Amino acid sequence: MFKTLIVKCLSDNYTYVCYNENNEAFVVDPSEASPVIDCLEKNNLKLKYILNTHHHFDHVGGNYELKEKYKCSIVGSEKDKDRIPGIDIHLREGDKWHFGDIESEIFEISGHTVGHIAFYFNREKSVFTGDTLFSLGCGRLFEGTPKMMWESLKKIRDLPDETKIYCGHEYTLSNAKFIYSILPSDELKGKINELENLYSKNLSSIPSTIQEEKKLNIFLQADNNQISEALGLIEKSPENVFTHIRNLKDNF
Ligand code: ZN
Ligand code: FE
Repeated sequence: MFKTLIVKCLSDNYTYVCYNENNEAFVVDPSEASPVIDCLEKNNLKLKYILNTHHHFDHVGGNYELKEKYKCSIVGSEKDKDRIPGIDIHLREGDKWHFGDIESEIFEISGHTVGHIAFYFNREKSVFTGDTLFSLGCGRLFEGTPKMMWESLKKIRDLPDETKIYCGHEYTLSNAKFIYSILPSDELKGKINELENLYSKNLSSIPSTIQEEKKLNIFLQADNNQISEALGLIEKSPENVFTHIRNLKDNF
């Protein structure tokens, strides 16, 4: 088992430091090295691995400095083997990554980038989704197609309801406001108030859960007839509905 610490990086990035009972740690998506080093030192942890969900700078920016300092190994997608700085271990869909008795299953979740992966820890009921699934949103399509992204989101949606979601950015409030702008509801209004309250105390909305996202995240509901009807997209395919919602968000 491991415990997860949330480290805020850059302006709105999240990096996660996870550690076992021997104080050995891995870090997911270190945007920058110094806040991670502070966290490791404060908690007296030894860094063994860096896990990268995808190659973007705000997820790998700390790789070289951390690798140099801690002599740790860097784990990422086989498809990112020429794009992730310092990568040592290449993984693909269905692979398992082990760290002592900790096991992660790898899902390829392309869309935001091609070769983006998620790390799913069944026993710890946790998934690290990078910039594919956000709380109440999803990533922009920089490299993949809407079809790829929709398939990737469904893969994550199929995880058990109680799974905790650790994503790459704190975008939850603006995502909630976007959903409210197209489909207002009392439940969302309540969520917006709750998030404004959290932010005023400088608290994080992460982790979310699969259950919570299935309820409120409109990007996971592109195959829900009530949603497509409400958007005036009757009888459109889930992929078309997803594309429409993504376009609205890109222009929000
Ligand atoms: Zn990204
Ligand atoms: Fe990012």
